Amino acid sequence: MPKKSCATCKSLQEEHRFLKPPEADWLKKETGRKNVDGFMVCEALLADGEKQCRNLRHYFREKPFKEPLRLPDPT
Ligand SMILES: [Zn+2]
Repeated sequence: MPKKSCATCKSLQEEHRFLKPPEADWLKKETGRKNVDGFMVCEALLADGEKQCRNLRHYFREKPFKEPLRLPDPT
């Protein structure tokens, strides 16, 4: 299945917020980084209107990883 993307990921404003502590912990484990300051998650709703995009970016860098990294949905 192709990865969905949203226009917000490509824009420089709005709809992104910094990570909450548990999310930062997840990203540290996932990437092996010790410092994940500056990473932001996209809160725009996808086309189905229910799920958030949740792609990660680093400040205005749209693609900080080789492949898009999506924060897991909250459980
Ligand atoms: Zn997005």
